Order: sequence, then structure tokens, then C-alpha cells
Amino acid sequence: MHTTGFTLQTRLDDGAHGKLTGCPLGRTGVIHTPHGDIETPAFIPVGTKATVKAVLPESVAAIGAQAVLANAYHLYLQPGSEIIDEAGGLSTFMNWPGPTYTDSGGFQVLSLGSGFKKVLSQEFSGTGKNDLAMAPSKERLANVDDDGVWFRSHLDGSEHRFTPEVSMRIQHELGADIMFAFDELTTLLNSRGYQEEALERTRRWAQRCLAAHRELTDSRATKPYQQLFGVIQGAQYEDLRRKAARDLGAMEVNGQRFDGFGIGGALEKENLGTIVGWVSEELPEDRARHLLGISEPDDFFAAVEAGADTFDCVNPSRVARNAAIYSPDGRFNVTRQQFKRDFGPLVPGCQCYTCTHYSRAYLHHAFKAKEMISSTLATIHNEYFTVQLVAGIRRAMADGAYTEFKKETLGRFYAGQWGRVDSAE
Ligand SMILES: [Zn+2]
Repeated sequence: MHTTGFTLQTRLDDGAHGKLTGCPLGRTGVIHTPHGDIETPAFIPVGTKATVKAVLPESVAAIGAQAVLANAYHLYLQPGSEIIDEAGGLSTFMNWPGPTYTDSGGFQVLSLGSGFKKVLSQEFSGTGKNDLAMAPSKERLANVDDDGVWFRSHLDGSEHRFTPEVSMRIQHELGADIMFAFDELTTLLNSRGYQEEALERTRRWAQRCLAAHRELTDSRATKPYQQLFGVIQGAQYEDLRRKAARDLGAMEVNGQRFDGFGIGGALEKENLGTIVGWVSEELPEDRARHLLGISEPDDFFAAVEAGADTFDCVNPSRVARNAAIYSPDGRFNVTRQQFKRDFGPLVPGCQCYTCTHYSRAYLHHAFKAKEMISSTLATIHNEYFTVQLVAGIRRAMADGAYTEFKKETLGRFYAGQWGRVDSAE
């Protein structure tokens, strides 16, 4: 049987889906890890500092989450990856028995001080005027060179260096089931010339990550196998994205290949499905594809149809702490006055712990009174909503009901009572 790796189960264009056009790449599958299987497509909640903020691991499991994703940059700075290694790895340390992911830290290191968002609208792309922000510069908290990145800690300003080898060592010490190669993140504001230069750097860093991963795996042979995903960059350029996917898909160093792939970089919402599709067409079908940083319902459908298997995003829990509640009829803010005496469930029909035990009036009060339970209850609901939405996509794909499920879900969410995002937020 499989202990690690990916098994493809069904394709969206198989049999019952014969009439579908435009989404030939969608699929269901299973990612096997030493801490259990992940049925895909799946949404992976983010636990940046080895905790899904405000929620116990038992609640994360009850939500239906199959894995959590922590951040190598944050855990390296605090408490230190060696502490987590001594504790027996991330899963044991944080009392989450299921599969874990760590991202490489590249996103945090390279976005320090620049404050850009992952999904940008089209008008901001390709002007080149942001090259200075990404190139060596004294104004930034991070400086890139061909060997790695110097950066300053956001905690105390101390200086640190990440290279592909350092990132691999940190991620091996953290011990997650799935890790990501160290890559250079660019923004849509960088020029074409800079994108090419950065992509070539990322390709060489990918080779170094594979070599370091092989050595660390051999020297820590008693530890459970950790899968390494290569990260595909290339911004909004079709030729660069396809080249990066071909290069990393075929890459092998000392017998070590990538176990799966991350699709990285800032993506224009308008082109998200197109870009993921280019990459999926080039990547080997027998390995999983993770799309970093999406959480909106329409983005999930676009990405799944284009061949992405797993997703993560801080958004469901981040907005929950600001009282923004996802519902099938759009997103609303529970601090609105109209909920003060609304004793019905937070979201009628929702089967999560919060909605089956608490009213809108209680959540309204807890947020107004700034009680900590407000964050806990809202996070449980939003993570449940997001995890179950993607689980619903998986079921619909397996049952041959994808087209109907998509039409109903998106029709209701974007035309619903709250019209996508509550104007009171
Ligand atoms: Zn709920």
C-alpha cells in the first residue's frame, strides 16, 4: 500500500461528466502521508504558528479538516525549529495527530515590508515599477541574491539568512508531512525581465532543495518520510509558467524528484483558472498540486476545474476575528444592529458546532463585548464553511453532479441576501 504520494481517483471529464467542456483537468484523489490520508480536492486550514488561532485541535478535526498548514518562517523565529524537532515534530508538538504542511518561509521573508496581497486585480500588473521593491534595496526588510535572502526578523529586527539548504533544514526539523521548496516570490508589478531572472533563480534553488532534501532524508532515516513540493512561479506569463512547470516536473537530483507541486506567486483573480490550467497541463498527473492562498468560493471552482488538488488560506479565520461570517447567501457581519435580538442560529442549516449551539444574538454580544469566545466560535464556523465547501466539490465530482453543484452554490453565494460581501464590513 501507499505510505506517501498521490493516487488519482476520478477525472472531472470521465463518464457522467462527458458533456462538460472547459474543465478537463479537474480530478479527485488521495494524498497519502505517514499521519494519514487527505482526500482531494481539500481545503487545508492555516495554523501559522502551530495553532489554528483561537481553536483547539479537537475542534479543527470536528470541522472536517484533514490537515493543517504552518509557517516555517514564523516557527524558525519562534520557538525555533530545533525546539519542535526535540518535541518530536510539528504534529506531536501542536497536538494535531493528522497530516501537516509547512510552507517554505519564502513568502513571508520576501514580502516583508512590501505588504502586497496574493490575489491582485488586473490593473496592477506588469508595469515594472515595483522592481526596486523586490531587487536588492536598503528600504526593504529582505534582500535577494543568487544564493539566498537576507532578512530582518519582524519580531526584534535581528538579521537572518535563508538559503535553499537552510529552508530544507528548518522544514526537516519542523517535521511536517508536506514541505515546500524555497522559491523567490515576485509580484505582478515586476517587469518581464525581472520575472525571468527570478524564475531562473527559483529553478536553481529547486535543484538545491532536492539535493538538501535527499541528504537530510538519508541522515534522518528514522523519521517519517517528508514529501517535498516544488513551487511553480512565473507570474502572469504563459511561457514562463509552462516552462517552470516542465522544468520542475522533470527535475531529478540524486534520484530525488518532487513529490508534488505548489502553484505560487500573486495571481490575478480574473486569470486564476487560466494560469493554474497552464501549469496543470505541463505537470505530471501522478503528483499532487497545491494552490497557495485562495479562499473565495468562485476561486475554488475555477482552480479545481484547472487541476488544483489542495488549497490553503488565512482568510476564513482572519475575517472571522473581525466578525465576518461566511454563509451560503454571501458573507455578513454579525455585529450589525439587526442581530442584537436574533435568537436563530448564526447560519440556519449549518451543522457546525457554533451554529448548532449559539445564536446570532450571542455572537453579536460576544463581539461587541470583545469576549475571546467570539473569535473561537466565528473561526469554527468559517473554517467549517470553507472546508465543507471544498468537500462538497469533491463529492459532487465523484457523484457526477459537479455542474449542478457549482451553479447552485455560486448562484446562491453571489446573488444571495448578502451579495458576496456585506457592505457593513
Ligand atoms: Zn456554522
